[in-house]
Amino acid sequence: MTPITEDFINDDLLHGLLDVKPTQERFQEVIDKSMAKQALTVEECAVLINASAPEQIEQIKEAARELKRRVYGNRIVLFAPLYVGNYCQNDCVYCGFRKSNTAAVRRTLTHDELRGEVEALEDMGHKRLILVYGEAYSAKWIAETVQTVYDFKKGHGEIRRVNINAAPMSIDDYRTVKQAHIGTYQIFQETYHKETYAKVHPGGTRKGDYLWRLHGLGRAMEAGIDDVGIGALYGLYDWRFETLGLISHALHLQKHYGVGPHTISFPRLQPASGVNIDQKWFVNDDEFKRLVAILRLSVPYTGMIMTARESPEVRREVLGFGVSQIDAGTRLEIGGYSEGKPHQELEKEQFAVGDARSLDSVTRELLRDGFIPSFCTACYRLGRTGETFMEFAIPGFIEQFCTPNALTTLQEYLIDYASPETRQVGEKTIDSELTKMPEGVLKDKAARDLRKIREENARDMYS
Ligand code: SAM
Ligand code: SF4
Repeated sequence: MTPITEDFINDDLLHGLLDVKPTQERFQEVIDKSMAKQALTVEECAVLINASAPEQIEQIKEAARELKRRVYGNRIVLFAPLYVGNYCQNDCVYCGFRKSNTAAVRRTLTHDELRGEVEALEDMGHKRLILVYGEAYSAKWIAETVQTVYDFKKGHGEIRRVNINAAPMSIDDYRTVKQAHIGTYQIFQETYHKETYAKVHPGGTRKGDYLWRLHGLGRAMEAGIDDVGIGALYGLYDWRFETLGLISHALHLQKHYGVGPHTISFPRLQPASGVNIDQKWFVNDDEFKRLVAILRLSVPYTGMIMTARESPEVRREVLGFGVSQIDAGTRLEIGGYSEGKPHQELEKEQFAVGDARSLDSVTRELLRDGFIPSFCTACYRLGRTGETFMEFAIPGFIEQFCTPNALTTLQEYLIDYASPETRQVGEKTIDSELTKMPEGVLKDKAARDLRKIREENARDMYS
C-alpha cells in the first residue's frame, strides 16, 4: 500500500466551523447521536465546542460521564512513563529537552540502568509502561530497550505491555520496533495549526516538518502497527481548533486504515526548564474539563489518557468525564524511579509533574471514588488489537473479559504490592463487583480465578 500523504487538516475549514452558534435542536441531535455510541463528524464536534451556554456545557459533561459509564464501565487502566533518554536533535520551544537548552542534564540509560528502573517499577506493581525518548535514537536501539524491559522479571513482577512515545519513523524503522512486540505507538502532533506549528518547531529541524509528523502514525500502520495513539499539546494554540484537529486525525486513520487511534492524549503545557511561552492560549481548568468531555462524546470508543501533568484535584474531577487510562507513581527524571529523589529537578526532566503521588495512593483514591483500577494487558497479548478486533463491537465483551481481567489483575496487585489499607478497600471492591456480575459461567470463572490468586498464589489469569 502506498502511504497516504494528503494534508487532511484544512485550517480554513476548521476555523470556519468555530463560532457558529448551534440551534438547541441541532445541539440535542448531536448529543443524542453520541449517546447512541456513534462517532461524531468534525462538524458535529464543532457543534459541541460552539455550545457555550452554561446549561449546555453542563449537559455535555453529564452526557460524557454517562457515555463513559456505558462504554467502559468504571475501570481505569494504570501505567507509568519511563524516560529512557533525553538527547534530542529538535528545538521545540516548550520542551526542557530541546537542543538549545544548555541547562538540561543529558543522559541515556544503559541497559543495566534500564533494568534498574524496571525493577523499581515492578516493585511498585506496574505491569504496563510507556517508554519515552528524545529524537536521537535509532529504531534498532529503541527495539532493544523494549526487549530489555520485557525480559526483566522479578518475583511476580513483570512488564506485560510496553508502549512507546518517540519521534515519527520511516516504515522500515517502524517494522524494526514492531518486532519487539510493542503495544501502542504514540505520537502527539503537538499543534494541528500550521502557523503555530512552524513557530514552536524551528525550521531546519526534523520536527519542523509538519506533514512528516502528521503522517507518522499512518506510516506506522503501513508497517503493521495497528495500535496507535494521537495527542495534542494543549496551550500552544486555540483549544477548540486543536480538538477539531484531533477528531480530524482520528477520522482520517479510521477512513484510510480501517481502524481509528487506540488512544487520545490531551496533555496541557507545564512549566519546563528554561521555557518561557506566551500564555495567550493556555487552557484553564474549566476549558480543560469541557474539552475532555467533548472528546469523549466525539470518539466514544477511543481510550482517553490523562497524565500526571495534571494535579490530583484536577485528575479526580476530570476522570469522570471519560478518561480510561492514567499514569501513577510518575517520575520524569531519567533514572528517577531507581534513584528515588523526593523532589523534581527541572534541569533533568522534560516538564513539571502535577501529581507525584505513589501508585498505592492513587489506587486507593480510585477505589474510594468507586473506580476499579485495572492492570489488565490481556487484549494486546491475545492479539485482540486493531482492525481485526473492536472490543466494543462485540456484545457483552466488557462483561466477559474486561471486568474479570480488571478484578484479577487488581487482586494480584493488592496481594503483591499494596499497603494493607489499600488492600482492604480493594478486596471489598472486588467482592462487591463480583456480586454484581450476573449469575453464570463468567461469574463462576471469575470467582474461581480470584480464589486461585488469593489461596493458591496463582497469577496472570487473563482471558
Ligand atoms: N521526542 C519525542 C516527540 O517529540 O515526539 C517524544 C516526545 S516527548 C519526550 C513527549 C511529549 O511531551 C511531547 O510530544 C509533548 O507533547 C510533551 N511535552 C513536551 N514539553 C512539554 C511541556 N512543557 N509540558 C507538557 N508536555 C510537554
Ligand atoms: Fe525533543 Fe520531543 Fe522535546 Fe521536541 S518534544 S525537544 S522532539 S524531546
